[in-house]
Amino acid sequence: MTEIPDDHPRAESLRTRHRIEDGVELGITSKQGLIAQGRGEAYDYLLGEETIPSADAAERAAAARLLLADHPVLSVNGNVAALVPGEMVELAEAVDADLEVNLFNRTAERMEAIADHLRDHGAEDVKGLAADARIPGLDHERAKVDEDGIRSADVVVVPLEDGDRAEALAEMGKTEIVVDLNPMSRSAQTAAIPVIDNIVRAVPNMTKHARELRERGASREELEAIVAEFDREEALEAAEKAIRRGELD
Ligand code: ATP
Ligand code: MG
Repeated sequence: MTEIPDDHPRAESLRTRHRIEDGVELGITSKQGLIAQGRGEAYDYLLGEETIPSADAAERAAAARLLLADHPVLSVNGNVAALVPGEMVELAEAVDADLEVNLFNRTAERMEAIADHLRDHGAEDVKGLAADARIPGLDHERAKVDEDGIRSADVVVVPLEDGDRAEALAEMGKTEIVVDLNPMSRSAQTAAIPVIDNIVRAVPNMTKHARELRERGASREELEAIVAEFDREEALEAAEKAIRRGELD
């Protein structure tokens, strides 16, 4: 990998891109994952490559919702595994969630490679390999989930999920926390809590909020109030406005 100088104005974005490239070489990220990353980068560029205040509020609400959950599950695909493997493990620990591998283009090799990669980053139990349950309304391969994972979860974090599956999970009654840089994508539009931010910033920030709430022993009432105060429409609008601000100014 070429060295990226720290003073390069877009150093972080270039490093992220290289991590996706490495993910493809390691066999954890699909080639389509490169295209998804490209779309994400375009939105991130327009957002100023920073966590805007409405995204920080969404990340705090997401942390509170995860702490309130009976059985939270964090879904991991090839891009997530390449970009934030250790950070997903830390978030899972901070909110007592399960990690489940879920792929749009499911192959046994990639499922195993991602599970191994998560274990290399400290994960103990990785779900998704049993595939002993289905999400209703999706075609066979994309419907596969674990019975004791996503199938029985009440709250699911689905980063960079495709719109179809996000909608199908919502129809199953799951509370969805979607991380997606495009506020207009169907996934973001379906989410109870849409987090319009780059996964590389969103996950550590959710963990930070979860730890802060936990350490000071926030009550259920306080966590519920944080979730209730979060307005999804307002957050989606704020992100779209930030993206379009050039023409709105
Ligand atoms: P749909 O409208 O059905 O939801 P889609 O357009 O979202 O489909 P994809 O291109 O597969 O379909 O989705 C990739 C999504 O993931 C895009 O919305 C993109 O903005 C987002 N994305 C890509 N990389 C990142 C990232 N690093 N952090 C957050 N979101 C990202
Ligand atoms: Mg989408």
